[in-house]
Amino acid sequence: MKKRNDFLSYGRQSIDEEDIQMVIETLRSPFLTQGPKIKEFEQAIANYVGAQYAVAFCNGTAALHAACYAAGIGEGDEVITSPITFAASANCVRYMGGTVVFADIDARTYNIDPTEIRKKISSKTKAIIPVDFTGQPADLDAINAIAREHNIVVIEDGAHSLGAEYKGKKVGIQADMTMFSFHPVKPITTAEGGIIVTNNKEYYKKLQLFRSHGIEQTEYSSEQGGWYYEMTDLGYNYRMTDLQAALGLSQLTKIDTFIQRRREIADFYTEAFQDENRIVIPQQLHETNSGWHLYMIQLEKELRKKIFGKMRSMNIGVHVHYIPVYWHPYYQKLGYERGLCPIAENWYEKALTLPIHPQMTIEDLAIIVSNIKELLNQPK
Ligand SMILES: *Cc1c(COP(=O)(O)O)cnc(C)c1O
Repeated sequence: MKKRNDFLSYGRQSIDEEDIQMVIETLRSPFLTQGPKIKEFEQAIANYVGAQYAVAFCNGTAALHAACYAAGIGEGDEVITSPITFAASANCVRYMGGTVVFADIDARTYNIDPTEIRKKISSKTKAIIPVDFTGQPADLDAINAIAREHNIVVIEDGAHSLGAEYKGKKVGIQADMTMFSFHPVKPITTAEGGIIVTNNKEYYKKLQLFRSHGIEQTEYSSEQGGWYYEMTDLGYNYRMTDLQAALGLSQLTKIDTFIQRRREIADFYTEAFQDENRIVIPQQLHETNSGWHLYMIQLEKELRKKIFGKMRSMNIGVHVHYIPVYWHPYYQKLGYERGLCPIAENWYEKALTLPIHPQMTIEDLAIIVSNIKELLNQPK
């Protein structure tokens, strides 16, 4: 096996001089926050995905929280999401006092299965939060059909899927609201950051209200005086800064190159492993074009553990995304039991994330593939 000198993370940002200059210019401008860059960035993301409105937040989790607020989720409401996701997809429901209902995944795509969603619908269901896991869009048409039938809201967790396509169109216009995250491992970065895109003006207004303390941005009558404003609901300070938005604007000009590179890396892995009968490669539906945030293979349980350990000792940052959300002690204490989503649990025992990000070289890839093949060929 070949050992790397430095640790190769499963994901990381790609920052160039242009990005750095954009941030420096903003540092020299009159506005570090609440200035013109935020609106510019919101407009650029809305244009990129083809949505009417966008509201930027300090991170993707805050954006999901705001979307749950805009959807009117509260105590007694149930929200259906996938167990195979980052905890934030479920936590946002808890912030509003709602109940999380987990629906099992489709074994082919690892995304939430619409048939399983149907089984979990009740008179209390208020929303569905599908996750575009690994960058492959969820089955959005089927999910929207269920939502329309039951008059519920779809909040898409697109943390992995900015730039991905569903039936030939960019993700971000299919759901009622879609969240994108700009954490450094995500398709583009603002360090911390997130956004909601929507075509619904009511949601747009509520998202803005929630982001800034619940303070209305409307004009008030002059008899009150120019200082006057009103706080109409309990909001937060969830704003993005102009520094972050400036970085995001610069990053967005490179997204197509980034995703192109991710697709090349995914093709490289697929080609290398498709004839290995002990490796299951990630299946792609023909109606989706993934942005390849993650490349995940499946291996027999013991083999996964061995390969994980050996690859880490070679400085290769393989990972596992994710532990089923309801296995975490917080959700266990709420009463969710193991065995709830058997397909997801079985998948989790076998899943392994291989490094994928735009800065990886052909040498990086060659070492990963040859090490894995060597491990597969070792006697048990
Ligand atoms: C990253 C991520 C989030 C949260 O985004 P942050 O910007 O880190 O708060 C939510 N859901 C999923 C699936 C994620 O991967």
